[in-house]
Amino acid sequence: MAETRTYGRRRQLLSKTAEATPATPPATREAVSGRVVSTSSGGSTQMAGWDAMDRTASASGSDMYLKVTEEAIVIKVLGDGPFDVYNSHWVDEIEDGSKSVRCWATPDCPLCRVGDKAKRFSACFDVVSLEDPDTPVMKVWEAGIKVARQLKDIATDAKRGPLNRDDLYFTIRKEQKKKSVEYTLERVKERDLYEEYDVEPLGEEILRAFLAEAHEWGAQVKEPLDEDGMNEVVDLLVEG
Ligand SMILES: [Zn+2]
Repeated sequence: MAETRTYGRRRQLLSKTAEATPATPPATREAVSGRVVSTSSGGSTQMAGWDAMDRTASASGSDMYLKVTEEAIVIKVLGDGPFDVYNSHWVDEIEDGSKSVRCWATPDCPLCRVGDKAKRFSACFDVVSLEDPDTPVMKVWEAGIKVARQLKDIATDAKRGPLNRDDLYFTIRKEQKKKSVEYTLERVKERDLYEEYDVEPLGEEILRAFLAEAHEWGAQVKEPLDEDGMNEVVDLLVEG
């Protein structure tokens, strides 16, 4: 089922364009996500100066993820659903590296088998962040279960969806409550963007450029550990 989903008409048009104009493939996924897309035709990326420094810095690791703050950020969602959905185990005993470990989501997941529960849910969306309206940047937005359910309600509602509708933007912000963090999602119509948030809508060309770099449906933003890796984590958990 998942394989048949696409980013819609726009994406199909796009792949035709892509065939006609071969481009140098990016070296790594990280190098594409979180970067600023240049839309000048045939424009080479200038790798010097302050702009290049910012671009390069923002292409590294954790910066590929959207950082939701207490101030509302305007985003444009690129797909009509999450390209990757997973649960992860949280292993506090891991000192070297990420404490969050992707669950295999099969009965033979080594962490599940020793009774650990994969408690953290992530639904991953490619979004264009307009946090800095002059410099739109593509990010991976890892939404938790509550926001993901709201997004699903909108996506499946013929009047409010789909998420990647041309005239649809969102704002997201978080609020620290006593015991948890609460996220607030709001829909914004393109026509209200400027008046309400001082943000100009994305042009068609730049949007197409971002779409061309979006993750494939089913791409894994967080790779699962292999058996050896998992067994090491299990050892830490059992010994810890
Ligand atoms: Zn598991």
